[in-house]
Formats: sequence, structure tokens, C-alpha cells
Amino acid sequence: NNNWSNTGNYSSQFTNIWDRATNNKCSEIDAVYRGKFPWKQHGSVDDLRGPDGQLPEKLRNVTPHHIEHVSNEIMIKNPNVHWDDIAGLAHAKKCVNEMAIYPLRRPDLFMGCRSPGKGLLLFGPPGTGKTMIGKAIAGEAKAAFFYISASSLSSKWYGEGEKLVRALFGVASCRQPAVIFVDEIDSLLSQRMSNGNEHEASRRIKTQFLIEMEGFDGGDDQVLVIGATNRPQDLDEAARRRLTKRLYIPLPSSEARAWIVRNLLEKDGLFKISNEEMEIICNLTEGYSGSDMKNLVKDASMGPLREAMEQGIDIMELKKEDMRPVTLQDFKNSLQEIRPSVSPNELGTFEQWNKQFGTLA
Ligand code: ADP
Repeated sequence: NNNWSNTGNYSSQFTNIWDRATNNKCSEIDAVYRGKFPWKQHGSVDDLRGPDGQLPEKLRNVTPHHIEHVSNEIMIKNPNVHWDDIAGLAHAKKCVNEMAIYPLRRPDLFMGCRSPGKGLLLFGPPGTGKTMIGKAIAGEAKAAFFYISASSLSSKWYGEGEKLVRALFGVASCRQPAVIFVDEIDSLLSQRMSNGNEHEASRRIKTQFLIEMEGFDGGDDQVLVIGATNRPQDLDEAARRRLTKRLYIPLPSSEARAWIVRNLLEKDGLFKISNEEMEIICNLTEGYSGSDMKNLVKDASMGPLREAMEQGIDIMELKKEDMRPVTLQDFKNSLQEIRPSVSPNELGTFEQWNKQFGTLA
């Protein structure tokens, strides 16, 4: 059946196939379609239609395949991160409760003077839990979670980024309460973009994004935009104005590092490290990010297996209960390989920016 391939432009192809896809007999076409547009899943556009079969106002001028992409790829069905999974960051958690979670859960209490900003910036070194916080906010606020990396808007979606931004905000608004998490937001809202050196397409994406954010300001929509960056100094004044709260997410403290080690090893039932040994691990990992710590634990927990292999033990025959626990020495060995990914120099930049633009209380 070739009808669909002769239907001319892209969107009419889409409509044609969309109609046919609800018919079982057309599974072959559907398969072709899925291969061609792998993000396609049934139902997501229809899910958003009202009882009259119409799409909500905000989605009327948005192309169905952009709505599909947002619903199936950018909206994360179950982010599954809870506050308890995040080590340390008590200050950030407290601020986020006040400015994001309670307002999303109790909009009636957070009106008028108490109405919170609709934009939150999380900045700090990479691998410190910014994305985890975004997911936890969505989880705790029982909100839909949308994750997009800003650099993909201008690379993967080059030429269509602007339309995707419109679809993103439109779908989020229909799914509210919602959290839109924009990773590497500096690449979208940088100063570079406003001084005329950037390509026209990138500038249009930026403008669209700012317009959409503006639309939420002062309105009743329960949509929070969270931007994450490890280059806050690149953000321009317009970006700072929209992201009214700006929280520094620093490297984990010594206690938080211990918590990450314990938590990961306990999950696997591998924890046999004394308090004194843990203290040594913490002293040796000054400057490690949460993500570095995770990599370290992963590497260290390979120690017992590597040792068994060196002793010529057949891994295929090895019983799990015969494996020795992970030790301090495993950590010391792995520390040679897994180095901190953030330099002390970079930390200075964050602290300075935090003093100048961060939300301190
Ligand atoms: P970021 O968004 O700041 O770059 P992520 O939130 O993606 O970092 O964290 C990457 C990984 O590092 C997480 O999946 C988690 O395993 C670990 N991690 C980072 N920070 C923490 C933390 N504070 N508590 C627990 N795990 C963390």
C-alpha cells in the first residue's frame, strides 16, 4: 500500500498515517512509519484532545509530530528520583521545597504576593545532582517531567528547534502541573547569542524560549522551568531575569560523599567498611563530584572480581557468596584511575557567580 508515500508534504503524510495507524490492518504501514519516525507511539496526540475532539488552544498551531516527540521522548514517564536518593544539599532541598514543590502542590496558598517565580536555575559543577533535583521536584510535586538538553535544540533539531520549543511549552501547559528541565541552558540563553554572532536559527530558538517563559509569568499555569548549567557566567541578563531563583549546587561535602558510598554499596549488599576506613575514603576524595563518587564506587566494587580473575578463578563458576566484600584497598586502587573531574579553579568561578547572582537564602 503506497498511498501514504504519495501524499506530498510531510504533515499530510503524518495525518494520513496517523488515521491509518488506528486500523489494525495497517500494521505494516505502521511499522514502516515507526522505522521512519522512531519517536512515534500511538495515542499521545489523541490523549491531549478534549471531549470535542479538538486539541487545546495552545496546541492548535503546533505540528502533530512535534507534539508526539515531546510526549514520547522529552516527557519522562516516571523519573523515579526522591529526595532521599540525593546526598547532602540540605540548603538546596529546603529552597526548592519552598519555591517549587509547595507552590506546585498547593497553588491556592501560593498566589498573589506569595506567587513564586516560574524559573529556577541550578548551577554548579557537572555531576553534582542538578538533574536529580529536577526529577525529584517533579516526583515530589507529582508533576509531569520534561527533560531536554538545550544543545540538542540547535543540533539535532536544527531548523525546527523553535517549533519544538512551542510544542514543549504547549504540551507542558496541557499536562500541568509540569516541570520543564532544560539541561545546558547556557547554550540556549548565552550572551553569545544576543550579540549578533550566532546563527539566525539559534537566535529564533532563544527568542521563542523567552517568549514562552514570559507567557507563564504572572499567569496561573502550574509550570516550572528549571535550567541547569555549569557555565552560569555565560548567561545573559535576560536569562537571569527569567530565572528568578538561582541555586548553587556545590560539590558534595565529606558526609555526602560517605553517604553516596554507603548507599551504593549497601544496595548491592557489599558494604563492609568501618567508620575509620570511611573517613579515610572521604579524606582521599576531597573535590570529587557525586558522579565521580559513583564512578569510584563502581570501579572499587570490581576489585574483588578482578582479584579472583588474577588468581585464576573461573568467573563462570564463582559463587556470589564466596566473593569477598569491597575493602578500603579496593578504593585506594581505584583512586589511581578515577580522578576528580572538576578543577579547584572552576570552583572559584562558581563561588564568585553565586555571590553576585545566586539566591543565598
Ligand atoms: P548534574 O545534572 O549536576 O550534572 P546528575 O544529577 O545528572 O548531575 O548526577 C549524575 C549522577 O551522579 C547521578 O545519577 C548520581 O548517581 C550521582 N550523583 C550526583 N550528585 C549526587 C548526590 N548529591 N547524591 C547522590 N548521587 C549523586
